[in-house]
Amino acid sequence: MSHYLSLMVTSKKDSRPAIVWFRRDLRLTDQAALGAAVASGAPVLPVFVLDDGKAGAWKAGGAARWWLHHSLTQLHAVLRHHGTGLVLRRGDSAEVILALAKEVDACAIHTGILPEPWERAADDAVAKHLKGTDCAFHRHPTVLLHDPDTITTQAGKPFGVFTPFANAFLRGVPIGTPVPAPKRIKGADLPASEDISDWALRPTITWDAQFADAWVPGEAGAAATLDRFLDEAVNGYDVGRNAVSKAGSSSLSPFLHWGEISPTQVWAATLHTDHPHTAGPVAYRRELIWREFAAHVLWHHPTVPEEPLRPEFKAFRWRRDPRALKAWQRGQTGVPIVDAGMRQLWSIGWMHNRVRMITASYLVKHLLVPWEDGQAWFWETLVDADLGNNSVNWQWVAGCGADAAPFFRIFNPVLQGTKFDPDGDYVRRWVPELTKLDTRFIHEPWAAPNTALAAAGIILGKTYPKPMIDLAEGRARALAALRDTGGKRADQLV
Ligand SMILES: Cc1cc2nc3c(=O)[nH]c(=O)nc-3n(C[C@H](O)[C@H](O)[C@H](O)COP(=O)(O)OP(=O)(O)OC[C@H]3O[C@@H](n4cnc5c(N)ncnc54)[C@H](O)[C@@H]3O)c2cc1C
Repeated sequence: MSHYLSLMVTSKKDSRPAIVWFRRDLRLTDQAALGAAVASGAPVLPVFVLDDGKAGAWKAGGAARWWLHHSLTQLHAVLRHHGTGLVLRRGDSAEVILALAKEVDACAIHTGILPEPWERAADDAVAKHLKGTDCAFHRHPTVLLHDPDTITTQAGKPFGVFTPFANAFLRGVPIGTPVPAPKRIKGADLPASEDISDWALRPTITWDAQFADAWVPGEAGAAATLDRFLDEAVNGYDVGRNAVSKAGSSSLSPFLHWGEISPTQVWAATLHTDHPHTAGPVAYRRELIWREFAAHVLWHHPTVPEEPLRPEFKAFRWRRDPRALKAWQRGQTGVPIVDAGMRQLWSIGWMHNRVRMITASYLVKHLLVPWEDGQAWFWETLVDADLGNNSVNWQWVAGCGADAAPFFRIFNPVLQGTKFDPDGDYVRRWVPELTKLDTRFIHEPWAAPNTALAAAGIILGKTYPKPMIDLAEGRARALAALRDTGGKRADQLV
């Protein structure tokens, strides 16, 4: 080849863009797909594809879409600042990405590895199509600390139980140092982009009024949230995480879900605290391993959002009860800690972990409503709605997951409230009609004498609901249903 020709070939090759296909990794720091594209020297073309079709019932819910709107807006602004921008496209993600690669004559596509089944299917389609072409397809770990294919039991099987998974994780997963954001990005010429306002991601009803007070989506908001947690709460996290009215946990779940901060950044940050190996930071990192475990379960059991992992639960006698479900969704069950949690969820798109467990347990046990109904509501209303975390935790609470709390262990919401919200602050914040009730009765207003109710301006059944079901009765009914399941006794199911 002549020198002139080789120069031409080189410059054509150099000008071919590398696509960075952003998914649930909407950040610049420690973003391996972006880092690899920048390091390749090719001009970088960042893109996000909204694909509601492939995900089917699991397309992002209302609260998550609110978050996504703001997150993409932020990412676009940050990318602009770095010398490029974000191209938005809609449609079948594999088809859109392949069409874009053709349109711009891309030399490579870089993207993250995600555990959701439809994302894996999209990757397979892209990889298959590009095989043998001059456009390379690279997948990078941007979402998880571990590669879901690599952690196995000694027999080479996936883990079904958390503790051995966590042990294997701690033994075997090297956690690197987060990579800083590129200082500047050599941007490719950007092809046409859709306008985010045409995607109508924000709710049409004024449901999100309080979301913006509670959250600042995007990478800067994630960093500020992490800093607050490190300064104020990580050291006491092992205890403080259960105090439901305090900011004792990190509130990083939506940022982690959307990848505005990487789990490596969060993990590493806890190792740079003053006492990284004391109970608080250790307990915190264990929760990050729960997140890895949920993704591991989803990776190896892609039907976990739809089917109980313990097959005997397919025969469980749930009650389809739209009235009970609606009362639960609206925070009108008459059980204060449950109603407080459900109203917190509706108001800010997030609920404290302890209260997620209490509200979920009340729905599936006291009300005997199928866990799938609760899961679907959480999916619609959580800003951090995450397929692996949501399904695995719902199955855990319902007792039908691989490593679940036994069904017969039924949370008593009054005792839980008294223990984790002893002053009733959480209930008073989210259920204002109970504000003036004496703390002795705040978790069981039905047990309050008439004088205490009258002094607080409460008329049960009028200003605040009477409980939907007597708690002891609900418990007995749940245990009876469990006994009837497939003819098995409760102790055979645990
Ligand atoms: C019924 C039910 C449904 C849930 N649905 C979701 C969901 O859709 N999305 C979601 O991110 N979490 C879910 N969780 C897990 C947990 O409640 C939230 O991750 C946590 O409350 C988020 O608050 P935080 O960021 O302050 O958590 P922290 O206590 O600060 O924990 C740090 C991070 O660890 C991870 N984590 C913590 N607890 C768990 C857990 N039990 N399982 C998996 N990861 C965990 C989260 O990413 C969290 O941000 C669910 C829990 C229950 C009981």
